[in-house]
Amino acid sequence: MSVVDRQEWDVVVVGAGGAGLRAAIEARERGARTAVICKSLFGKAHTVMAEGGIAAAMANVNERDSWQVHFRDTMRGGKFLNQWRMAELLAHEAPDRVWELETWGALFDRTKDGRISQRNFGGHEYPRLAHVGDRTGLELIRTLQQEIVVLQQEDFEETGEYESRLKVFQECTVTRILKDGGPSGTGGTPAEGPGRVSGVFAYERESGRFFVLEAPAVVLATGGIGKSFKVTSNSWEYTGDGHALALLAGAPLMNMEFVQFHPTGMAWPPSVKGILVTESVRGDGGVLMNSEGKRFMFDYIPDVFKEKYAESEEEADRWYEDPDNNRRPPELLPRDEVARAINAEVKEGRGSPHGGVFLDVSTRMPAEVIRRRLPSMYHQFKELADVDITAEAMEVGPTCHYVMGGVAVDSDTAAARGVPGLYAAGEVAGGMHGSNRLGGNSLSDLLVFGRRAGWHAAEYAEASAGRRPPVDDSQIDMAAAEALRPFSAEREGEAGPPENAYTLHQELQQAMNDLVGIIRREGEMEQALHKLAELRVRARRAGVEGHRQFNPGWHLALDLRNMLLVSECVARAALERTESRGGHTREDHPTMDRAWRNVSLLCALADPTGGLAATDPARGQIRLTRETTDPIRPDLLALFEKEELVKYLAEEELYE
Ligand code: FAD
Repeated sequence: MSVVDRQEWDVVVVGAGGAGLRAAIEARERGARTAVICKSLFGKAHTVMAEGGIAAAMANVNERDSWQVHFRDTMRGGKFLNQWRMAELLAHEAPDRVWELETWGALFDRTKDGRISQRNFGGHEYPRLAHVGDRTGLELIRTLQQEIVVLQQEDFEETGEYESRLKVFQECTVTRILKDGGPSGTGGTPAEGPGRVSGVFAYERESGRFFVLEAPAVVLATGGIGKSFKVTSNSWEYTGDGHALALLAGAPLMNMEFVQFHPTGMAWPPSVKGILVTESVRGDGGVLMNSEGKRFMFDYIPDVFKEKYAESEEEADRWYEDPDNNRRPPELLPRDEVARAINAEVKEGRGSPHGGVFLDVSTRMPAEVIRRRLPSMYHQFKELADVDITAEAMEVGPTCHYVMGGVAVDSDTAAARGVPGLYAAGEVAGGMHGSNRLGGNSLSDLLVFGRRAGWHAAEYAEASAGRRPPVDDSQIDMAAAEALRPFSAEREGEAGPPENAYTLHQELQQAMNDLVGIIRREGEMEQALHKLAELRVRARRAGVEGHRQFNPGWHLALDLRNMLLVSECVARAALERTESRGGHTREDHPTMDRAWRNVSLLCALADPTGGLAATDPARGQIRLTRETTDPIRPDLLALFEKEELVKYLAEEELYE
């Protein structure tokens, strides 16, 4: 039996980005002894990279804004596939979460009369993004970390120990959720219900040491899956760990076909291809042009948005000064629309020299305004591409940015479906953004649902006091054996030559980029599923050399399991959904189909015991089911004009 360190906590939060930190603060404030565990250094999460801002209807810049308008914009952006209750909660609660950040010390940019400034962003009817230049995520994380230190200081005064009630384990990776109910964790008799969460199994990156954090409640806040695609704005941590951990624990994932390709990533040079160019560039007046110098977005306004967007450059430009009497520029359409338009321009041969299009602010604003409002973009282009954006246009193209699909959760409590004690918040959770997320809505999502996840996890843990689920030793042994497998992969009699985990990563990323990317075709997605099956077999021979102390090759080999699982979810769900909607565009089914409006696709592990070894790796590991979503509440539907609803809702939904 493996001997590993064990510690007892009430709530374990996996991930220290915005969602994880907000959840941890809430759980600790509600009395739960809380551990936060993160794969990278504390403070280095995707949230820190967020640039544009936090969407919240505070109405500071345009008093017509309200939670109802924010709700409407969010549903429109998601093409009405959003879990409407989540969209309602986000729109309602985001302003309070921003003001709360301010009371914790966040320093937002201000309006002339001293209120928190808000900027325009794609799909938001009014200026709505509270921001700190183009470094909003950095301030958000700094503030949440500071609040954690404040709580730790309080604990020190009371208990003499800073980490008695809130402790951070950094550079530690969780590889399995543990559950009660025997070796497979599937629970006992039907009366006992499904296995309950009992803790997490993890390894320390530096030493390779294994350890277990025992807890009745675990919050997943691990972010997204972007590293499964070659061109991405995401960094090395985004290997879909939380998505895979949930699947392996028996919690289904929802709507994984919806992957957001942000329209503007850097197109050149190759070493930085995909790095994000914030939407604030367009929000602040930047325009997209093709190689003929044409502002092409006017040619790509879809019918559903026709009434809201300007038809001429003159009207679009007037909107920046007088938004009440003019319609907004089409550069500010939701991201899926802009990404498809850029893709089409490049395909038609009107792209920039390095396969993107041009994004220009240099002719639109004085140099000092650009440097003040977009400092990170100015430095990013100067240092990485030797381009001065105050004097010339940037070259940009679509980049994999965000996954709308994720763990199916209860809208109010963030509880993962089917696994008592498991919660999910932030990018790892599904449903909130429907088929396409609006910019700025992720940061509000982290704060609103991070808080809710921490709150309900703490309540659940309290209710479990005195009957904490036991940790099953055999599950620890299995988790340890699984993690050590790459060291003996080649000796275990797998037929075929040894494989290199790094090469497999690259092949997987290329396949997902080429075959399940921004424009999808049936034949290509089938090819992708074949490729994934081949990679699964080869991944079993991905051996590593050396020992467990800081061994990046080993970590890459372990990440493969997660990337293969989530990639299969994306490819299978994308093949199943025979329509185009938001972040899912089918060339063979190019239009949105109202019959799919209330259908969600759920991915679960084909082997319900959560084992992967038992499944033939050459066959699929994911089972797909369809689910009808709840009808939208009538008072929320009443916020829309009937003519608009007709474009989205099926006949019977309208009738009801
Ligand atoms: P993250 O912030 O990514 O945190 C994930 C955490 O989980 C990390 O601590 C990681 O180490 C940890 N983790 C992962 N796997 C494991 C594991 N197995 N074990 C232990 N720990 C693990 N959204 C907006 O709303 N506005 C913006 O302006 C904006 N700009 C963006 C700019 C960029 C460049 C990018 C990439 C994204 C941007 N987004 C923006 C999106 C937004 O930043 C992310 O969706 C959001 O930060 C995700 O937060 P999170 O808390 O869910 O995950």
